[in-house]
Amino acid sequence: MDERERALDAAHRHAAGFLESLDDRPVWPRASLDEMVAAFGGPLAEEGLDPAAVVDEIAERADPGLVAIPGGRFFGFVIGGTHPAALAADWLVSAWDQNSGSSLLTPATVAMERVAGKWMLELFGLPSTASVGFVTGGQLANFTCLATARTAVLARAGWDLAERGLRSAPPIRFVVGADRHGSVDRAARFLGIGRAELTVVESDDQGRMRPDALESALDYGRGPLIVCLQAGEVHTGAFDDFGILIPIARRHEAWVHVDGAFGLWAAASPSLRPLTAGAEAADSWATDAHKTLNVPYDCGMAIVRDPQDSIAAFRTGGDYLIYSGLDPWDVTPELSRRARGVPAWAALRSLGRVGIARLLDGLHANAVAMAKGLTSVDGVEVLNDVDYTQVMFCLGEDDATRALGEAILADGTAAVTGAEWRGRAVLRCSMSSWATTAEDIDRTVTAIRRLVAA
Ligand SMILES: *Cc1c(COP(=O)(O)O)cnc(C)c1O
Repeated sequence: MDERERALDAAHRHAAGFLESLDDRPVWPRASLDEMVAAFGGPLAEEGLDPAAVVDEIAERADPGLVAIPGGRFFGFVIGGTHPAALAADWLVSAWDQNSGSSLLTPATVAMERVAGKWMLELFGLPSTASVGFVTGGQLANFTCLATARTAVLARAGWDLAERGLRSAPPIRFVVGADRHGSVDRAARFLGIGRAELTVVESDDQGRMRPDALESALDYGRGPLIVCLQAGEVHTGAFDDFGILIPIARRHEAWVHVDGAFGLWAAASPSLRPLTAGAEAADSWATDAHKTLNVPYDCGMAIVRDPQDSIAAFRTGGDYLIYSGLDPWDVTPELSRRARGVPAWAALRSLGRVGIARLLDGLHANAVAMAKGLTSVDGVEVLNDVDYTQVMFCLGEDDATRALGEAILADGTAAVTGAEWRGRAVLRCSMSSWATTAEDIDRTVTAIRRLVAA
């Protein structure tokens, strides 16, 4: 074998070893960041090292600091596992090393992204002519969609943003829900819209925007308007009522954006689809493939109803760049880019329409089973309606809830993460992994029962 093959062979061996260890290893890392820096640090060596030996070193040193995210009992934040087809396809993407900004340079990978995008539009019930830009995740998908929205609403007000810039532009009203994801504020910040400039609309006990509150928020003020809704609140999994909210926003000529990082996928299951009803009437949608679709990090999608709006915001003027229809660099802020839609194509192809629906239904069933199990533990209260993939729970006292969260991570059976909800400390389980089984739920509930009793 030459040195490249030996390095790839070593990577394969270590990757397989890591994946095999997932069922038994503690879910949370055993090493701290400082220990990891010490393991990898020191001065850069004068002399190089054989590639396979480098891979061996990485695998050995990283191991205690790795989180068992692709395993069946990682329920923290909202983080998916890795479907085998997507994982293997991701290796090919690196081996191929295709700079996938343009269809003329890299037709194979750009074609796979186009097709994966079309498949997703169909799964989500969105217009087949919409543009789909593959970006790093929900944060960049929100940014990409909202940057497109900003250009479009200013253009409608007679302002050419690309030419005249933002400084003297008409002010944009940016309307968000009280329980929006933090990445929406961050996207707004990147776009020159400050925190104090957001119009925040009240939400209900599950985190859904209140239609009456949106109505009265929009009754004041005029001018360019963006309304940002949500499919899947990050703690409760709740969905805004698009069928009521979008017509209200439309009456005020708003651009409507939906942050559906993990929630938009509900549309891919016939039984969960009602949760997203009406969302297809929006102008743009942000979603992730690395969460619910279980492709390896990173992969998100920025979807825009009218591709001309994407082009107006992103098409580059570089004269050495050749245009051929709608290219990745027409619909994302990137120029050189990884073909991160290829693993998404692989996951979709491997699961098929039925497999994707089954994946979604499985995540929901796991959430229901987890909520049922947790409710059976003395002192545990489940706080949300488990309509989708999220379970939010607590003990009677905030300190006890926080202590339980720490005990769960130290125990290592499973990982859940904490948050605050309506002034209370809570713990939350996100069912986002294809790998989670009924046994994983049982093992987790049994561990939590033991930790609460202690
Ligand atoms: C995770 C999440 C995001 C951010 O997505 P990343 O993929 O982490 O960048 C945005 N919105 C919601 C609702 C999310 O759950």
